[in-house]
Amino acid sequence: MDFQDAVLTGQAADGGLVLPERIPSVGDKLDSWKHLSFVELAVEIVRLFATDIVDEDLESIISGAFASFDHPDTVPMVEQGSLRIMELFHGPTLAFKDVALQVLGGLFKHVLGKRNAKLNILGATSGDTGSAAIASVRGRENINIFIMFPDGKTSRLQELQMTTVLDSNVHCLAIEGDFDDCQRIMKSIFNDLDFKNQYALGAVNSVNWARVMVQVVYYAYAALQTNEPVSISVPTGNFGNICAGYIARRMGFPIHRLILATNENDILARFFSTGVYRRGSVHQTLSPSMDIQVASNFERYVYYLFEEDSQKLKIFMKTFADNESVEIKDYGKLNDCFVATRVDTSETLSTISNIHSKYGYVIDPHTAVGVAAALRVNIDTPIVSLATAHPSKFPESVKRAIGQLPINHPRLEQLNDLEERKVTLPADEMTIRRYLESNSI
Ligand SMILES: *Cc1c(COP(=O)(O)O)cnc(C)c1O
Repeated sequence: MDFQDAVLTGQAADGGLVLPERIPSVGDKLDSWKHLSFVELAVEIVRLFATDIVDEDLESIISGAFASFDHPDTVPMVEQGSLRIMELFHGPTLAFKDVALQVLGGLFKHVLGKRNAKLNILGATSGDTGSAAIASVRGRENINIFIMFPDGKTSRLQELQMTTVLDSNVHCLAIEGDFDDCQRIMKSIFNDLDFKNQYALGAVNSVNWARVMVQVVYYAYAALQTNEPVSISVPTGNFGNICAGYIARRMGFPIHRLILATNENDILARFFSTGVYRRGSVHQTLSPSMDIQVASNFERYVYYLFEEDSQKLKIFMKTFADNESVEIKDYGKLNDCFVATRVDTSETLSTISNIHSKYGYVIDPHTAVGVAAALRVNIDTPIVSLATAHPSKFPESVKRAIGQLPINHPRLEQLNDLEERKVTLPADEMTIRRYLESNSI
């Protein structure tokens, strides 16, 4: 399939994920790209993948997407003592997911316009994807969006960021279950190809290749800002963000190690230390956007671990689906990229508190998981920690850590006064299908 098909299809027809046939290599371009702005670099990187969209259109999609960011550097790098933090939260919903989703919204509009087509987006969110996806397509013609979230398990603000968007193309579905239920229902519906085609279903979750592709840009940008290789610390749930770091490294950007930081939902941290990928039960933590046990993007990494052997990958995925556990023998020898570690609630709180008392800088609990990991690991390159959400999105946790509320963000403050709209539904696939059938365009 070409790139535009990949944008619309989300998950591949056989239930697997889409990846480019070849990862472009950028080794000879690094010097000339060092001085590009974030937006310029984004155009250069995206055009290597989106080969069926002309440069002029790409430039307008990308600059349009980042015009909604409220910082002139789009993803500013801030230094606090020896800490380097890249703030990815300057988009409309104040989390890193805006970076890719603002572009994806523009891509949808472009591709649907060219094809005179319609799209019904179905998504599942543990908190931040939903609002970022809604912000990227609200009010757009020819697109309806249906977002499932675990009822009562996202933060109140995260929920309000979704349910206060009253555009008629937006449907917020509060599901009586946890995030893995939402993700399971979504996967199962996407796997029914007749249904998917009949209702022109599209995906905004990080199963959509375009999201991973856009995220490559900030890893590249971080790596190009220093004159030596950097390591990057990433608070991780679904492996979507850090998967982009892995792709960036394969492309030849000077990235030494990727530090994979999980909260108590540590399936990935356990895998990287033992080679065993085994599902555990979901814990609610202070970093709800990482309260995930089955990491949907992990499959993309395993494909490269298996030297691009889809058949082997298929067996791996099937074994996991059947047994909730699967092992890669001698994994330790294959891995020269990831350093994984788990950060628990008390360390998350103490990290927020320590960074605040040392530097007067406030981080959110997700970012804190990544920063704690960066402070703990023993790596002799500079480390950039990705700040994935603005602290005011998680005021209760920040208050618990530092005894005071973070500086409020005006965009969040007004949410409490707005009207809300949502539909509460059981975690039952048939019910969700019926809802889609009667509300799709
Ligand atoms: C989604 C999210 C994460 C986890 O990202 P993955 O791509 O699922 O690994 C971390 N922090 C915040 C604030 C998020 O919204």
